[in-house]
Amino acid sequence: MKSKPSFIIVGGGMAGAIAAQTLREEGFEGQITLLGQEPNAPYERPPLSKDYLQGKADRDSIFVNPDRWYAEQAVELSLDSAVTTLDPDSQTVSTATGGRLHYDKLLLATGSKPRRLDVPGADLDGVYYLRNVEDSDRLKIEFTRANRAVVIGAGWIGLETASAARAAGLEVTLLVSGDLPLQRVLGPEVAPIFAELHRDHGVDLRYRTTATELTGSHGRVTGVVLSDGTRIDADMIIVGIGAIPRTEIAADAGLKIDNGIVVDQHLRTSDPDIFAAGDIARTYNPRLGRHIRVEHWANARRQGVVAAKAMLGQDAADVRPSYFFTDQYDFSMEYTGDIGPAGYDRVIFRRHAQSSQMIVFWLHQQRVQAGMNINIWDVADDIERLVQSTHPANPEDLANPAIPLASLV
Ligand SMILES: Cc1cc2nc3c(=O)[nH]c(=O)nc-3n(C[C@H](O)[C@H](O)[C@H](O)COP(=O)(O)OP(=O)(O)OC[C@H]3O[C@@H](n4cnc5c(N)ncnc54)[C@H](O)[C@@H]3O)c2cc1C
Repeated sequence: MKSKPSFIIVGGGMAGAIAAQTLREEGFEGQITLLGQEPNAPYERPPLSKDYLQGKADRDSIFVNPDRWYAEQAVELSLDSAVTTLDPDSQTVSTATGGRLHYDKLLLATGSKPRRLDVPGADLDGVYYLRNVEDSDRLKIEFTRANRAVVIGAGWIGLETASAARAAGLEVTLLVSGDLPLQRVLGPEVAPIFAELHRDHGVDLRYRTTATELTGSHGRVTGVVLSDGTRIDADMIIVGIGAIPRTEIAADAGLKIDNGIVVDQHLRTSDPDIFAAGDIARTYNPRLGRHIRVEHWANARRQGVVAAKAMLGQDAADVRPSYFFTDQYDFSMEYTGDIGPAGYDRVIFRRHAQSSQMIVFWLHQQRVQAGMNINIWDVADDIERLVQSTHPANPEDLANPAIPLASLV
């Protein structure tokens, strides 16, 4: 009798968990093994810099599935099991604990890791990164002890942790390497919204500056020296200077890597039995006609579904525009779309009567490339349809809040 096929998922994060779930939902009856390096069952990371960090959400609320789900669905969840090597010839993976497992199909969903600060003093106590739930726990504790935090990096993680640190009552200095926070993502027209938001909440923003040294005493951080020579005292430092895809085992196995594991639209790597999903995947998107790598929650979810279906031989792909969200202070926003290498040639603001509410559109040659809704809900689907539309957009209508977005699609 032929044995049941064995599917292995490496990485117990969002993409890995959703892939396991989808395999069962699609009726796969073979063996599913989910190997995760962390001691925890798969959980969602967005709360770690938001409600969970601020003590507004408890630990139970962050898990993708309840613990019992894995046994009920016959998904073998192996925690504390880092995969150290992948051998595509023998179709096996080996773990740090000495296990060696055979797969028929393999999904790599190892996510990304924080880029480390490389300056003198970076290894002092009191220097924090944020990726895992334990990192968030440590930050939460430190927030109760510290008075002054310096946040290095004004990307999403830096801004959200700055907001949480302010909510915890700390003095916060935010180091922005460029002219504005998020300028690379939002451009100079929209990025000032975030600078203003943080300034209004008492954050001291320092522009065009980086940390050149962390100072310390008795092994513990006491401050930062900036690139212009200024010194700032601090009891804690939070580093949010980007993330790096965890492609090591794929690279060692000879899979094609280029800023992530290169996959086709079905998330298949250069080896037909190995797939990659989530933060590590650099995916061919046929709608955009290019490869993109996306480090966002919705992408990991959607790709978990696509990877599972593709592993089952289905013709699955995700061509929807990218989507992400953030919550900072009383400010919530969603962003839908992908600004291509050609950029944008026009930004349109749709301002609502309440000054805290608006929608921003980025256009290129009259086509909507991306849209961002701030403190307005239930419009992301309409924005997605506008982004996918092949018709030219009418700028006056886009700017007019009296015209329902749905009627513009
Ligand atoms: C603090 C924080 C806040 C965020 N907030 C938002 C947000 O507001 N909106 C948004 O859209 N996105 C947000 N993101 C991004 C989003 O969480 C990620 O894009 C998403 O988690 C990616 O999922 P993934 O499954 O690819 O990787 P991960 O969730 O990182 O999971 C990968 C897992 O694989 C494990 N692993 C790695 N190597 C191995 C190995 N060799 N063997 C076994 N296991 C391994 C890792 O330990 C990890 O558990 C946030 C991320 C962080 C860190």
